[in-house]
Amino acid sequence: MPSFNIPKTQKAAVVEKTGAPLQIRNDWPVKQQKDLAPGECLVKLDCSGACHTDLHAAIGDWPVPPVTPLIGGHEGVGIVVAIGDNTSNSPVKLGDRVGIKWLADSCLNCEHCRKGREQNCPHAKLSGYTVDGTFQEYVVSYVNHVTPIPEGFPSDAAASILCAGVTVYRAIKYSQTNPGDWIVLPGAGGGLGHLSVQYARVRGLRVIAIDTGVEKKNLCLRLGAEKFIDFNESKDLVAEVRNATGGEGAHAAVVTSSAPGGYTQATEYLRPGGTLMCVGLPGDAKLSTSIFFTVFKSLNIFGSYVGNRQDAKEALDIAARGEVKVHFALKPLSDLKNVYDGMHHGTIAGRIVLDMSKK
Ligand code: NAD
Ligand code: ZN
Repeated sequence: MPSFNIPKTQKAAVVEKTGAPLQIRNDWPVKQQKDLAPGECLVKLDCSGACHTDLHAAIGDWPVPPVTPLIGGHEGVGIVVAIGDNTSNSPVKLGDRVGIKWLADSCLNCEHCRKGREQNCPHAKLSGYTVDGTFQEYVVSYVNHVTPIPEGFPSDAAASILCAGVTVYRAIKYSQTNPGDWIVLPGAGGGLGHLSVQYARVRGLRVIAIDTGVEKKNLCLRLGAEKFIDFNESKDLVAEVRNATGGEGAHAAVVTSSAPGGYTQATEYLRPGGTLMCVGLPGDAKLSTSIFFTVFKSLNIFGSYVGNRQDAKEALDIAARGEVKVHFALKPLSDLKNVYDGMHHGTIAGRIVLDMSKK
């Protein structure tokens, strides 16, 4: 059985209260093995992706505020270095490499868990929102919900599959589309979006990407989008989508824009029977659409919230086989503030992954 030296303190990115500046602390306590509850494990992180959700949490622009002081982060990969005493039937052991997702834990016994919607469990623990997340070197997680990382799949390449990847994988899975159908992806150049282009291609869908700027345009086209529409330049988004799809409109849209604008007109460019998957989470925006045409066109409108353990496994397996690749840059944890600035201004194409060993 491997044994690990666990320090008493560590480096962590901390927000004292929502809206306060981010601080990099070197004195944050590490929970010791003897203090772990049954079912808890301690993971020494290699890296963590930074999701726009972490920025929403740090600013506090969602209807339900996070716990504070807040350590954000929910796309972590690392090694299990301790497991709580009296943990029975743990699916992971010391030394295993695992991923931490947004849904850190759920009860596995309620109606939602039983139906495979673990993310709606009333006892859910959310990494970097209701429990300390992965913007630290050591994170407490839960043996039943950590995700084993396929052997040989590098941690930094896997990290953003744990939120961005799982989320868009599930949204596309339930988008009621068939190979050859058209899918519109507003937000396609961002963290979730660039993975949605690829998971859509894996399912044989034809992709119309919507985002802004040359870098995101080139990324989306390189990843397999047939058409890119720049939302800052387009005079008539609905007409452009209709023209690209032979006049009828798209079969589905998966919106991963963090700003409400990504939702504007989405139902208008769908063809009859089309499906809108709402994924991006602008905190105070309302979904506004014509009731008449929603009925008349028999549209489906769904919310899609991360994914369950099975979705995580499926999304990771596809990525580990190289069919989907996270486009990322590695930065130190101390760069997180700049990462948030970049996200806020929409200048990050793909994802930033924070490397815990980088100074
Ligand atoms: P990101 O900042 O990496 O990407 C967002 C993209 O949206 C950017 O490329 C931006 O240019 C683009 N965009 C902005 N306005 C647009 C518009 N009008 N039309 C088209 N594109 C537009 O963010 P991310 O990490 O990919 O997260 C995106 C959103 O998804 C956030 O709100 C996040 O909280 C949410 N999210 C939801 C879930 C879920 O389970 N539903 C999971 C993870 C993240
Ligand atoms: Zn996320």
